[in-house]
Amino acid sequence: MSEKDYYKILGISKNASQDEIKKAFRQLARKYHPDVNKDADAEDKFKEINEAFQVLGNPEKRAQYDQFGTSAFSQEDLRGFRNQRFDFDDLFRDFGFGDIFDIFNHREEYQDYEEGADLKYDLEITLEDAFFGVEKIIKIPVHEICKKCGGRGAEEKYLKQCDKCDGSGKLKIIRKQGFTQVVTITTCDRCHGEGKIALKYCDFCKGKGRIEKIQKINLKIPRGINDGQYMRLEGKGELGKNAPPGDLYVVVHIKKHPIFRREDANLFLDKKIDLLTAIFGGEIEIKNIDKKIKLKIPAGTQSHTSFKLKKQGMPLLNSKRRGDLFVNVIVHIPKISKFKEKFLRKLI
Ligand SMILES: [Zn+2]
Ligand SMILES: [Zn+2]
Repeated sequence: MSEKDYYKILGISKNASQDEIKKAFRQLARKYHPDVNKDADAEDKFKEINEAFQVLGNPEKRAQYDQFGTSAFSQEDLRGFRNQRFDFDDLFRDFGFGDIFDIFNHREEYQDYEEGADLKYDLEITLEDAFFGVEKIIKIPVHEICKKCGGRGAEEKYLKQCDKCDGSGKLKIIRKQGFTQVVTITTCDRCHGEGKIALKYCDFCKGKGRIEKIQKINLKIPRGINDGQYMRLEGKGELGKNAPPGDLYVVVHIKKHPIFRREDANLFLDKKIDLLTAIFGGEIEIKNIDKKIKLKIPAGTQSHTSFKLKKQGMPLLNSKRRGDLFVNVIVHIPKISKFKEKFLRKLI
């Protein structure tokens, strides 16, 4: 088996930090996640990224890999790494707590910068919107680190050193086990690792350390967009602290249409025609999304015959081309009175 370069796959250097690994993974995973990327090779690519991350994102496995390469793992392990499930939504759950990456995250020392988190926004539009393209104004609440207290939740003069941990933010618990001493270090539960306690909360942010702002964004949804596709708006995510803001991902969802069904760029619809048109042929009118179209029905058309109207489907994204429209005709059979039945039976 050929040796894989996981660092190359994630596009990072051999001495990348865990944060850099996570970041690289998240970016690539969003790009290639099979829920949103419909390219034929996206799934393979996603699995490969996944495999690389499952190894490099775990310090222990990474050390094994650095020493022995992929031969450090069994085929079964590697398969497991590749097929580890991530919902597309998981890749966004990096704000607040309960982040899937928390497993590898140890609370870091207080730092005076914080990168803005990426945000995801679900936007529902109609099929007509997707057909013509549409402009939408969305309002996104973003959080800015409170300028008054610098995100600490209290002004400097109201912060005193935590007496439980003496300002270190950590607690050392020593237990004796037989002849050995076991030292456990945990985060201080009184100051939550900050090392300081607020005597009076900041009146500007009410101690939260963050201020909510409503961000209004003008969105241009291009014609031809499909369900599940997303737009990335650089710098429109959560605001950072002395660091750039995150990005905003707008995921487009298309409402179910009462008449049309869509498959990629093709549209499908059912159209009732009367018995005489089916028998003798004729012309019917189809109301497409953009205009009315005439369709010739040949004599002797059976029910559930599908007619393909070329280039009358959805526009393709970033293209002048269009898919096709498939009209499935359904012959309406009228109820016949006893009196008319006699004539009809003689005729047929
Ligand atoms: Zn403390
Ligand atoms: Zn504040």
